[in-house]
Amino acid sequence: MFDIESLVRPNIRNLVPYSSARDEFHGEAKVFLDANENSLGSPLLTWRNRYPDPHQSALKARISEVKGVAAEHIFLGNGSDEAIDILYRAFCEPGLHNVVVCPPTYGMYEVSAAINGVAVRKVPLTAGFGLDMEALEDAVDADTRIVWLCSPNNPTGNSLDRTDVETVLNNFEGLVVVDEAYINFSRQRSLLTELTEYPNLVVVQTLSKAWGLASLRIGMAFASAAVIEVMNRIKPPYNINGASQELALQALEEVGQVNDMIRILVSERERLADALHAHPAVLHVFPSDANFLLVRVPHARALYGHFLDHGIVVRDRSSQPGCADCLRITVGTPAENEALLKALDAWKV
Ligand SMILES: *Cc1c(COP(=O)(O)O)cnc(C)c1O
Repeated sequence: MFDIESLVRPNIRNLVPYSSARDEFHGEAKVFLDANENSLGSPLLTWRNRYPDPHQSALKARISEVKGVAAEHIFLGNGSDEAIDILYRAFCEPGLHNVVVCPPTYGMYEVSAAINGVAVRKVPLTAGFGLDMEALEDAVDADTRIVWLCSPNNPTGNSLDRTDVETVLNNFEGLVVVDEAYINFSRQRSLLTELTEYPNLVVVQTLSKAWGLASLRIGMAFASAAVIEVMNRIKPPYNINGASQELALQALEEVGQVNDMIRILVSERERLADALHAHPAVLHVFPSDANFLLVRVPHARALYGHFLDHGIVVRDRSSQPGCADCLRITVGTPAENEALLKALDAWKV
């Protein structure tokens, strides 16, 4: 049985959270002399002199509408990376607990574990980049607090099998985090609809990819109200700055425009995949549910350098397990993708 109380670190369970000025005052007032801000204003818009809403209520209300998830199930972080870090700080005792990651995958799960002094158990994906369910079962023990899954996965681009993910959710008593940074580009449905089904599920999404707002640094975690309450308790009070909250709120009105961009990027992904697949210099194009392609070539490092000579930077993922001689290529604009293909035409091994 999933038991949140027994999963939360004792120091966090007993924590008296910092109470900000904006927390303590509720009601109507005209004169704010409670937070030591600059009462005269700022060189920018006058309201920028005030601390932002620590609860990000307006932004959460809008995200709640867009995602169909109640605000009490939403945590907002300074990028997904903050949500990842906070999950460690809330649920993993340094030097005692461990987590499971399935490489090749997003590097931040492991970096954040190292920062927090938490041991990482690696269960590599299978040759087809699926979950190795038996190895996963063997890796988990009583001190395993989090299983990190990424679907669609970075850098491989494929979605994990939904039945496998649900099997992990059903059988693991710690948290299962499913990072859906690329879900908007996927043929697969999000696991958001399963939040009520699984108290141990945390779905991580971001405004950095499909929404085109990487610069604002806004990541989202969706989970049971109990998990979200713990995450909110330990986050820095003003973790999402006021400018980002305001701009994100504006952007979230443009659902139609974002859906148009997603359609274009997905169709460009298919066009680029076909062109690369047909190209004699390419060995394999892995199927992708994301806005990038993992491509195997005879000499990845040399091709990486060749692209650079043409002013194009891609990511060499050759050092990752199962990704020998693989480049990860973000789907660009139609013109950028043309430039990439043209540069590839000019490549001589
Ligand atoms: C890009 C990416 C993110 C996004 O991180 P932010 O901090 O929200 O920008 C999260 N997870 C994965 C797997 C990614 O590739």
